[in-house]
Amino acid sequence: MYYKHYFQCVKCKGHVVELTDSEIAVPPGRTHSEALQNGGEPMIRNTVVPFCLGTIVYCAGFDKFGKPCGGNHHRGTDTFNDPPAPPPNPEWTEFANRVHAAWQVYVNSGYNIANRGPNHDRAHRTAPGVSMVLQRSGGMVNIQGGLYKASISLTSDASLKRNAGSHAVFIYHL
Ligand SMILES: [Zn+2]
Ligand SMILES: [Zn+2]
Repeated sequence: MYYKHYFQCVKCKGHVVELTDSEIAVPPGRTHSEALQNGGEPMIRNTVVPFCLGTIVYCAGFDKFGKPCGGNHHRGTDTFNDPPAPPPNPEWTEFANRVHAAWQVYVNSGYNIANRGPNHDRAHRTAPGVSMVLQRSGGMVNIQGGLYKASISLTSDASLKRNAGSHAVFIYHL
């Protein structure tokens, strides 16, 4: 399972959405701008959001007077089944093996921070077959049983992110 948690900025009322494999809703940042920098997405993807220091709070879809929040969602968290494996695609298979191998290096090193952000120099370019799978994914992909959030937001570098419990988030750069 994975989850989509909704948050709202108390200042500008803008929303930040977070896709995560954690059912506990933790804002991706304290302030609106920080939440977007840390992988939160604006409600409408690829819109440019002004710098905003408003505090981010969990949004159940209604304000305390029962009025809709304006974000057009009806609960604070939506739940999704794990994404299916993509159809056979040699470029994707090669890519998935590389991402999984890099994840294993991170785990086997005891979550050494030096191994948490592979392909930072973009030595491996994103192949068309990989882009296609990511674009069709809805934002979450399953690679060998691990859930990776695909971030293609304008406010942060394109990447795949996987939660590592209490350790630093694993980021494969695209
Ligand atoms: Zn704001
Ligand atoms: Zn809302």
